[in-house]
Amino acid sequence: MDPVDALLEIASLLERERASRYRAKAFRQAAATLTALPPEVVGDPTRLRSAKGIGESTFAVIQQALAGEIPAYLADLRGDVEPERTSALRATLRGDLHAHTEWSDGTTPIEVMADAARALGHEYLAITDHSPRLRVARGLSSERLREQIPLVRAASADGLTVLAGIEVDILEDGALDQEADLLSELDIVVASVHSKLRMDSRDMTRRMLAAISQPHVNVLGHCTGRLVQGERGTRPQSQFDARAVFDACAENGVAVEINSRPERRDPPTRLLEHALELGCLFSIDTDAHAPGQLEFLDHGCARAQEAGVPRERIVNARPLDELLAWSRRSQPEA
Ligand SMILES: [Zn+2]
Ligand SMILES: [Zn+2]
Repeated sequence: MDPVDALLEIASLLERERASRYRAKAFRQAAATLTALPPEVVGDPTRLRSAKGIGESTFAVIQQALAGEIPAYLADLRGDVEPERTSALRATLRGDLHAHTEWSDGTTPIEVMADAARALGHEYLAITDHSPRLRVARGLSSERLREQIPLVRAASADGLTVLAGIEVDILEDGALDQEADLLSELDIVVASVHSKLRMDSRDMTRRMLAAISQPHVNVLGHCTGRLVQGERGTRPQSQFDARAVFDACAENGVAVEINSRPERRDPPTRLLEHALELGCLFSIDTDAHAPGQLEFLDHGCARAQEAGVPRERIVNARPLDELLAWSRRSQPEA
């Protein structure tokens, strides 16, 4: 098999099982190195082994692939990582509205995320890197976001539109962590709570309602903040008045995110059903931080299907023009 394909498939499988991001990165790096090397170096094991960016495991994978075998490392991973369950709903989705790049805490450039979305047949992908206050995730200052917007849009090609977006922090008082005029330039604004998740229910409700009523917000990201498994440990869901919050979402046309990350599964089923009863729209998103994670969409679809969410309520089942008519609803007429 082609050694570059083997390295990239390994990286993608490692990302999906959320193994160490450095391990996945090493395989992506080796694929990039290999692509750039002249054929005489690739064909010479001694020179290849000493090339910068090629380590012991990546070298073994390349050698086995060049010998016409399925590399052992890849064969093992294919056996370990469960295939995604595909649901009927998955086929109706046209894109993903929540994804990160190396501009904040994702692992790859915008173009690599775009390539992966294209390979999945998406019509659109929103790049939604973090906002300034989330320093641990290298949140983007207004200057960096201004710099990023044209580069995001320029990654659109071959049937994929890359939308400029943000995952903006909902600050403690419910204000959004980015300038309003900059938010108004974006195609998609996901608003999420990342700090003080344990504040009492009344304050959390007030905080969320203040954010949901802001005109630029399109999607309420991972609404409870819970973590159910994984390397970051577990975390209980935050407490808020679900009826008030979901009523406000329905009233303001804000979609409740069904976050597909296996360690989040947010909202929990009971809340998902509650939001459905109250007439909310939904966005089934991956919150991918690496290209392989764009495949998490199947997890979210399976949950939406189990809860009986109809296709008409899912904003990312809409064609691009309808999606933008919804997301930019608060914009003044051009
Ligand atoms: Zn988030
Ligand atoms: Zn995110």
